[in-house]
Amino acid sequence: MHELSLCEAIAATVSRHAGERAATCVVVRIGHLRQAVPATLSFCWRMLTDGTDLAGCALEIEQVPAVIRCRDCGTESTLEVPLMLCSSCTSDDVELLSGQEFLVASVDLVEA
Ligand SMILES: [Zn+2]
Repeated sequence: MHELSLCEAIAATVSRHAGERAATCVVVRIGHLRQAVPATLSFCWRMLTDGTDLAGCALEIEQVPAVIRCRDCGTESTLEVPLMLCSSCTSDDVELLSGQEFLVASVDLVEA
């Protein structure tokens, strides 16, 4: 499952960052083009962290819209579907401004 491997990557990053401390909350930023379903991510996160050092650590998901800019007419469009076409002139000469993000934005830690 796609979301499960994303959660494994998040857990590895948080564990490495936390060291001896306990993580209470992790904020991840995920671009629209990653096609990750937040509810599924939350479910996988609970399943993955249950019974581990990360049990009880909340997962907060910030979704980043996919935005492209057209090189022909300069229009910036937010993509509802992963189709790299300008919404104004339908040119496919576009650059991706956001939407591919997958990063751990912050981790709340407390001394164990
Ligand atoms: Zn255009």
